[in-house]
Amino acid sequence: MGHVNLQEISAEGNEKISKSRISLIGLGGTGSLAAQLFVRAGVKKLTIVDFDGINATNLQRQINYGSDDLRRKKTEATAALLRRIRDDTEIVECGETLDESSADRILSGNNLIFDGTDNMVARDTINNFSLHSGTPWIFTSAIGTAGEYKAIIPGVTSCLRCFVPVMNATHLSCSEQGILNSVPSIISGMAYTEAIKVILGNPNVGDLHFVDPWRDSHEQIRIARRKDCSACSGKT
Ligand SMILES: [Zn+2]
Repeated sequence: MGHVNLQEISAEGNEKISKSRISLIGLGGTGSLAAQLFVRAGVKKLTIVDFDGINATNLQRQINYGSDDLRRKKTEATAALLRRIRDDTEIVECGETLDESSADRILSGNNLIFDGTDNMVARDTINNFSLHSGTPWIFTSAIGTAGEYKAIIPGVTSCLRCFVPVMNATHLSCSEQGILNSVPSIISGMAYTEAIKVILGNPNVGDLHFVDPWRDSHEQIRIARRKDCSACSGKT
């Protein structure tokens, strides 16, 4: 009853959540908590996508896994956990790599896509699918002591390429640069909240949020649609 009794969601919003089909890409630190929250909220269907296995360095921050999960696939371990949490959400495991050739098959038929990936190539694939299918998605990123998130709604908000016009695939990974282990869960909880607002049709979404809990900062930045955006200009 937690959501039904909450004025901001109520029975009407809860009904929308219970009919939602979500695709979640990447089951690292950010994807782990979001997967749990979507299922605990009672979405109809959650498709979890990750090609990777679990290794010991993941356990510092990826809250779906323990030491007895090492070398299991992330999709397999997460699905087992989610099915323990509740048994009335359909969980679909997809242990594939998301790329331009698999995107339509993996991502179609969902109301919203949640990005828990760690690279811009995958996010660009999600962005392209979002724009041609009209599916909203939530961008997330976390490294060091900070992270960011943004709801992207085709035809309504700016897209990924509006604020990252040039893709730079070279970047340090979380294990290379280091990451405060609370940060993925903090960003995940906030980005998940943005996802629920999108599902409920709340218009107060779409800004880029930059959060650094170590420095007690939260910046909210309005990103306008770029008329010359290479991805969304003229398409929506
Ligand atoms: Zn754009």
